[in-house]
Amino acid sequence: MTFYQQPPTLGNEFEDDDLLKSYLKAFLPVEFQDYIFQDLKRFGELVTTEILQLGTKVNETPPKLINFDAWGNRVDNVIVCDEWEKLHQISAVEGLIAIGYERKFGEFSRLYQMAKLHLFTPSSSIYTCPLAMSDGATRLIELHAKDELQGYFIKLTSRNPDEFWVSGQWMTERSGGSDVSGTETIAKPLGGNKYELIGDKWFTSAVTANLAMTLAKIEDGSSNNSLSLFCLETKNPDGSYNGIKLHRLKDKLGTKGLPTGELTLDSCVATKIGSNGEGVKLISTILNITRIYNAISSVSYMRRGLSIAKDYASKRFAFGRALKEHPLHIETLAQLESEYITNFLITYYVVELLGKSETGVADKVEEKVLRLLTPVIKLYTAKNCVKVMSEVLEAFGGAGYVEDTGLPVLLRDAQVFTIWEGTTNVLSLDVLRAIKKEDVINYYYQWVEIMLDKYESELKSDEINTIHTALDQLKQFLKETTDENVFQANARDFSFTLAKITIAILLLRAIHTMKGSIVEKLKICLKRICKQGLILLEHSSDRLNENNFLLFSE
Ligand SMILES: Cc1cc2nc3c(=O)[nH]c(=O)nc-3n(C[C@H](O)[C@H](O)[C@H](O)COP(=O)(O)OP(=O)(O)OC[C@H]3O[C@@H](n4cnc5c(N)ncnc54)[C@H](O)[C@@H]3O)c2cc1C
Repeated sequence: MTFYQQPPTLGNEFEDDDLLKSYLKAFLPVEFQDYIFQDLKRFGELVTTEILQLGTKVNETPPKLINFDAWGNRVDNVIVCDEWEKLHQISAVEGLIAIGYERKFGEFSRLYQMAKLHLFTPSSSIYTCPLAMSDGATRLIELHAKDELQGYFIKLTSRNPDEFWVSGQWMTERSGGSDVSGTETIAKPLGGNKYELIGDKWFTSAVTANLAMTLAKIEDGSSNNSLSLFCLETKNPDGSYNGIKLHRLKDKLGTKGLPTGELTLDSCVATKIGSNGEGVKLISTILNITRIYNAISSVSYMRRGLSIAKDYASKRFAFGRALKEHPLHIETLAQLESEYITNFLITYYVVELLGKSETGVADKVEEKVLRLLTPVIKLYTAKNCVKVMSEVLEAFGGAGYVEDTGLPVLLRDAQVFTIWEGTTNVLSLDVLRAIKKEDVINYYYQWVEIMLDKYESELKSDEINTIHTALDQLKQFLKETTDENVFQANARDFSFTLAKITIAILLLRAIHTMKGSIVEKLKICLKRICKQGLILLEHSSDRLNENNFLLFSE
């Protein structure tokens, strides 16, 4: 009989995710669990049925830009498919932004919201991108413009699909995305807090959004070149553009369904938020949210990849046995599982801290740890996600490289997680900046002490030693590294080291608090991460000399 391979299948993405379920069981108050678990169970089914079909269709139907109509009028019409619109509606109805602001579950609202986004993201053709920027904009308005922009706040947090708005975040210009100091857009005062914006924006995702937050220099005759923050509506009430010309949609490696445009602000009317020159500081409120979304997205992609790779391992046979019976294939997938668990734990801990911070119950130590770990989780999970997705594709052999299996899109999309919202390097430098300028590290040490006091008894002595030795080396690096160049050259390794130490500690907390068979898995992860070593730092100027030699010698 002719052989046909059985494809991998997805079940209920909540029910099948032991880690997510056990984590929520351990860290959500009992009184919230019934409601949240029921909702996640229902949604876990929806994301692999209706939502996955919508996302797949969106990937196959990229947006188009029509610049001119038949008569030569400039129209700049972005055509997105109906399925993209439907994902917008589902996002509203499911409260994917609203949950975080209704705060019905107090400090745990973010945990619930992010668990839903975790289920949604890998099926949604990255509709999570507009949601992330919208959530960031909502938080910005809540903190800095609640009265003037109350109307926008209501729309961004609406559960009514006809009223729900999304926002973009337009920072990047041709001169730079990491370094926005070269921003050329200018803002001419129109009176009050209204301005007219003139300039070009080079990457504008969700270009069909209703709102955008953007940066510009105010032209007021002063010598102050600092950037200010503006909020604009993309369209006028009659449907025409608010002084915006769209030139092109980017032809991207992945995120194919997401319309990312290049545009000109040509006398676009905008409202200033905050004081003149405060733009970069204020927009960090958005970035803190989008970076957490990015980490959740990375973790959710890992989970999706792992889920199908594990299923496939029981359906695919080679050399007379199912793949799951080959020790080396098991070893490969087990490493991926351990990546998922460890990346999950650090990300969800930061989500817990975010929830605490936003509801005013975080203490000073937690606030500082949230500041320090937000860039760390973004860079760490994104890098690991690409690695995991590449391995997932390989776990399918040739099928992993074939488009209509739905697998290559996972790797292509994952690559963006390392770039937008700050590249790995830029975020690593942000971690060092936080340490140098915002005094976060002493609070981190305090946090470590508190956690070890609580959970150290969960450790075997060699694991205790590994954590303490790593911490000592981290401290020594910070004390002894005075050369700024050595400091910067180590920035990535520093962030990775910090992530690994934090994960080891969070594994202790999880082993102590979580219940069921997952605990054995957590113990294995702890043993492995400690065995691999937590420290990646090499604090000498030799490294700089070697780098220069490798790159620039004849
Ligand atoms: C699909 C997609 C969608 C996007 N959507 C948006 C959007 O909606 N809004 C928006 O504003 N932007 C958006 N961006 C832009 C994105 O945020 C930027 O591309 C990103 O921040 C990097 O900026 P850059 O492209 O200018 O790279 P550069 O800043 O030129 O960086 C190039 C390289 O240099 C490294 N580097 C830079 N500075 C340093 C340093 N000091 N030390 C060490 N290494 C350094 C970087 O890590 C990077 O590897 C999007 C990008 C993509 C790919």
